[in-house]
Amino acid sequence: MQRYFAKVENNNVVLDSEQIHHLLRVMRAKLGSRIEVVADGVVFLCEISNLSPLEIKTITKLEESRELKQEITLFYCLAKGEKNDLIVQKATELGVSHIVLVQSKRTVVKINDADKNRKIARFKKIALEAAEQCKRNLVPSVEICSLKEIPSYFAEAKFIAYENEKNTPFIKQVNHDVKSIALVVGCEGGFEEDEVSFLISHGYQSVSLGKRILRSETAAITMLGALMLHLEEE
Ligand code: SAM
Repeated sequence: MQRYFAKVENNNVVLDSEQIHHLLRVMRAKLGSRIEVVADGVVFLCEISNLSPLEIKTITKLEESRELKQEITLFYCLAKGEKNDLIVQKATELGVSHIVLVQSKRTVVKINDADKNRKIARFKKIALEAAEQCKRNLVPSVEICSLKEIPSYFAEAKFIAYENEKNTPFIKQVNHDVKSIALVVGCEGGFEEDEVSFLISHGYQSVSLGKRILRSETAAITMLGALMLHLEEE
C-alpha cells in the first residue's frame, strides 16, 4: 500500500499538491482506495472518501514501526556526480536518522552558500521519497557541514571507515547496547591523516571494512547494511 508523510487534522489527511498528483495520476487511486499516512511518526490506515474535492479520512492507527532502536548518523564526504543522491536514498532505506554530507580536504565537489539550500532541499526530497517507498515512520534529517564540525554532533559510539586501517574490523566493534552511533565515510580521494587523527582525538574509532579498497558509495552502503543487520539481530 502506498505510504505518504503528511499532516492529519481532525481525522482528515492533508496532502500537498505533489502527493495529490502522485496519488491520483501516478497511482490512479479511486474512491475507496486505501493508503497509509504517517503523521508525526504515527502510521494511519486511510481511505479516499471523496474525489472532487479530494477527501481522505483516517480509518485506524496502525501499531507498527520499522525504525531501528538506535539513532544512526551517517557522515558522508561529498562525492562527485549523482553518488550523493544514491547515498541519501540508500542510507534512508537502511534506517539512518541523520544524513550529513561533509566537505573534507579531498572533497572535489565544493558547495557554496548559494547552492547549499538548493542541494539540501533536493536531498530532503530524495530522503522523503525513499522513506515512503521503504515504509519508514521517520524521514531522516539532511544537512551539510565541514569535517571540523563533525565532533559537534553527539553519538555514543563513533566510527571512521579508514582505508589504511588494517586491524579493526568494523562490525566487531559495535555494541547493541548503545543508543546512538555515528559513521564517517571518506570521498573518492579518502582522508588526509590529520583528518583521521582529528576525529580519533574526538572519540572516533578507526575501523576497517575488509581487505579491499571500496568505492566511497560501496563503503557507505556496506557499512550501513552490515550495521542494520547486526542491530536488528535479536
Ligand atoms: N583514495 C583512497 C586510496 O586510494 O587508498 C581510497 C578512498 S575510498 C575510495 C573512499 C572511502 O571509503 C574511504 O575514505 C573510506 O572511508 C572508505 N573505505 C573504502 N575501503 C575501505 C576499507 N577497506 N576499510 C575502511 N574504509 C574503507
